Amino acid sequence: MIRLKHLDLRRLIISLAVVTGLIMLANSFYASYKAQEQILIKNRLQLNHAYATKVASATSDYLASSMQLLRYSAKEVNKLMDIPQALQTEVSRVYRQTESFDSVLVADATGKVLAAAPLDTLIGKSLETLGAKEALQLQSPVISKPYTGASGNRVIVLSQPIFSASGKYLGYIGGSIYLGQANSLDRLLSEHYYSDGSYLFAVDQDRQLLYHPESRRVGTTVGQNPVVDAVLAGETGYMQARNSQGIEMLAGYAPLTIAGWGIVAQAPTNAALEPLGALMAGVLKDTAIPALIILGLAWWMARLISRPLSQLAQGARALDQPETAEKIGQVEPWYYEASQLKKAMLESMNTFHHRIVKLNLDAQTDALTGLLNRRGQEMALAALEQSRQDFAIVAVDIDHFKPVNDTWGHDTGDLILQFLADAMRTCSRDEDLLCRSGGEEFLMLLPATPPDGAQHVAERLRAHVDAWHGLPGPGHITISLGVAYWSPEGGSVEASLKRADEALYNAKKNGRNRVEMAR
Ligand code: GH3
Ligand code: MG
Ligand code: MG
Repeated sequence: MIRLKHLDLRRLIISLAVVTGLIMLANSFYASYKAQEQILIKNRLQLNHAYATKVASATSDYLASSMQLLRYSAKEVNKLMDIPQALQTEVSRVYRQTESFDSVLVADATGKVLAAAPLDTLIGKSLETLGAKEALQLQSPVISKPYTGASGNRVIVLSQPIFSASGKYLGYIGGSIYLGQANSLDRLLSEHYYSDGSYLFAVDQDRQLLYHPESRRVGTTVGQNPVVDAVLAGETGYMQARNSQGIEMLAGYAPLTIAGWGIVAQAPTNAALEPLGALMAGVLKDTAIPALIILGLAWWMARLISRPLSQLAQGARALDQPETAEKIGQVEPWYYEASQLKKAMLESMNTFHHRIVKLNLDAQTDALTGLLNRRGQEMALAALEQSRQDFAIVAVDIDHFKPVNDTWGHDTGDLILQFLADAMRTCSRDEDLLCRSGGEEFLMLLPATPPDGAQHVAERLRAHVDAWHGLPGPGHITISLGVAYWSPEGGSVEASLKRADEALYNAKKNGRNRVEMAR
């Protein structure tokens, strides 16, 4: 266990509050960060999916209508296969009428080009390209895989077979679309307005890139990529995955079934999460003021809780100082533990002070009687007052003592004084303080004794002296007594002493050998 002796209760409570508060704050901050992050990711995934789906469907429509166009033309040209002039006119019309194709041609069943636009230099040549081979082999509508065409461009060919009226295969009409060139397909794929780092690419069934914003990558093959795997398996959806470059992406994807392609719209996760910084700064701003208020409250509470304890602790360090009891008495303990501590400390200080008083007062003893002398009496009174210990005062004076001295001498008088001191000891408790305040006048201080209790003690002493008949000299004396009471709330000790004297004076006046109570 580490001991943090220099830490006081207030600092401990404040630290506890601050640490707890910070942990809670960090926790809720983290939770809201995670929630915002999830929302941003989900939004971006759904947006990319919607976008990929839209582009896939638009491209699909575009390819379908282009195929439709060629199908119509194929029906038109089956009668023109032997009329090169008319065939060329039709091919040029198809090429010019639409913006779909970068070139259009008609070839016969052996693959020889019969008409072509705009590449009329191909006429009469036999084509060995992939598009030509596929069309001749399948004799059905084909959207070719991309390949490097006769023109040297990356190209795909859409073709429709041409049949005679009797159903004989005559050849095909093909329209080529150059990849990466400004044409309708390219516009469909490249129109992309997001500025948050997201982009779109298209792959064919062999993972070859048909379209990519970095044009140098068009025609290359995509490596390990779960998104491409999914879209080429015909799935539509979204996922968070690393692309072939190892960058984590938020990807939405949709298949382009008609051509067997896949469309992927994706953004790097980091780019999609860029608004998170600003969002969290907002959250921080919103939580800062409540957090400060709570900290202020914690500080205030810590002060309130620790104040009585720290005051008591200060008192505990200075138990030997006379003013400590008063300081402890002023502490306001507003909760149970502090109030118990205060009570216990005050109680222990009272006994403590008594012990001190007893110790010190040994030196303040009157030689004749063994009682406290005048100085001892003063100290005893001061100690009682400081410890806020209520006490009763009994003032004692021997009746007609002067004649005793005069008749039997001073020594006899002294013996009688000693007798009275013994009588006082006999009639009092251990903790009572017995003083010879001067001459033949005495004082009894009775701690924690109520007035009626003190009256009882005084009366017992009076009766004890009165009953004694074996004294030297006169053989018998009487005493008069005045009783007063002091409590911390009841004014000064001097005033109480004065009241005891007045009571004593009354006892003399009222005939001596009696006890009078102060008003
Ligand atoms: P009262 O009943 O009014 O008290 O009468 P009293 O004669 O006792 O009068 P007072 O109390 O004034 O008496 C004081 C006398 O006490 C004076 C003196 O003779 C005597 N006395 C004072 N100190 C001593 C002392 O130390 N030894 C002796 N033997 N006598 C003392
Ligand atoms: Mg007297
Ligand atoms: Mg006197």
